[in-house]
Parts: sequence; structure tokens; C-alpha cells
Amino acid sequence: MAIEIIRCLKDNYAYLVHDEASGETTLIDAPESGPILKALADKGWSLTRVYITHHHWDHVDGLAGVLAAAPAPVYGAKADAHRLPPLDHAFEPGDSLPGGAEVLDAPGHTLGHVAFHYPALKALFTADSLMTHGCGRLFEGTAEDMFNAIARFDALPGETRILSGHDYAQANLDFAARYAPDPEALAARQAELPRLAAEGLPTTGTTLESERRLNPYLRCHLSQVADAAGVPGASPREVLAQIRLQKDNA
Ligand SMILES: [Zn+2]
Repeated sequence: MAIEIIRCLKDNYAYLVHDEASGETTLIDAPESGPILKALADKGWSLTRVYITHHHWDHVDGLAGVLAAAPAPVYGAKADAHRLPPLDHAFEPGDSLPGGAEVLDAPGHTLGHVAFHYPALKALFTADSLMTHGCGRLFEGTAEDMFNAIARFDALPGETRILSGHDYAQANLDFAARYAPDPEALAARQAELPRLAAEGLPTTGTTLESERRLNPYLRCHLSQVADAAGVPGASPREVLAQIRLQKDNA
């Protein structure tokens, strides 16, 4: 199986997951139709289905344009069916989907937000929940929701790649540097990100293992992170809430 990362809009990512054995191709989110249709054409893949992570416009507004050129069934959360584009299949957290993904509940950014885990690919498509070196803003859910979602992800194998919905890596890393990240991992990534930017390469797709060294939202159980957040002795849940609040005000 192969993953194609597609840049859309200003800083969004859409993804194609292609299974060479079956010839099937799944699109994950549709921020903008043009780049997605171009990627399908460049690869010579035909669209089999679409998965949607959440209802925000910058994840669904390209859908109508994609489907007009490449009709395919659309899968989205039953809980959000009323505010998602028309769904052909409504799923619930815990479901296994055609194409090989398992649906993980990931509320916090929005209430119906989900992530797609492909055990066979060792890949987790997190959109605006856990992100590269950060996590999404809490528009609808609570810090507790986000904490629980991230704890679910953290139970996955360390080699799992985290594929998020936006390229916020540089801003997230600058912020993460305040919260006692692993110094070696920080220095390596600080050197790597400008090089990726210069070459126009994606910043998404870091491993869970590397995020555990850098991402403060995966490190809330560490005393040095609680200290850095100004809440020494606080519970991991409280530390996450505090860091997210400080990011909102940064
Ligand atoms: Zn969003």
C-alpha cells in the first residue's frame, strides 16, 4: 500500500491511500478538488471511496468537485451526518471500513472528529486532533476529550506514522520548544524543517515514537513538562489543558 500526500489550499493536506493488490484508492479529506484530481491523474489511480475526518469547510469543500470528476461513495461519522456532505456510509468509532481503516474516536477539535488507523500501513490519519508536534484547537470538545483521544493514539506502536490535516509543523515546533522536549530530537528537527520547506517537501508523517520526544501533548505525564507549563504537580490532563490554553494565547 502507498500513501500520496497532497498539498491543498494554504496549509492543508489531503491523502490518497492506494492498495496495489486490489487497485483501490481511498481519499482522506477533500480540502480542494484541483490538487486531488491532479494527484489521481498523475498516479493513474481511480478513486474508490472517500473518508471524511470532520465537518470543517477546509476538509470537505473540495468534495463536490472531486465527486463530479471521480464519483465514489463517501464515508463519514454518523454523529456528524447532519453537518457533513451527503454520506453514502455513516460509521461509528470502532468500525472497520472497506479499504482497511479502523475508525478511532478523536473528539476535541470538533465533537464528531475521527481518526483513521491503518494497522497494515502503520499509519494514523489524525487531521486536526494530534498533529505534527502539536494538536488541534479545541473548538467544540474539552481538553479532557483531546487528552483521551491522544491517549488512544499513544497506545499504538511507536513506528506508527502520524499524518495530520495541516502543515503547522514549524509553528508547533517553535511552541513545543518551551515544554522541555528531548534536546537531541528538537535540534534535529529544527535543522530538518527549514530544509523540508526549502525543498517543498511535506512535514507530516512523523512517527509516534518521534512525537513522544517532541510533542508536549504526548508528554503531559512528565514532571519537567508540568513544570514548564507552570503547573508543577498537576495531573497529565490538567497539564494538557494548560498547554493548549497557552497555545491559544500565544
Ligand atoms: Zn478542522
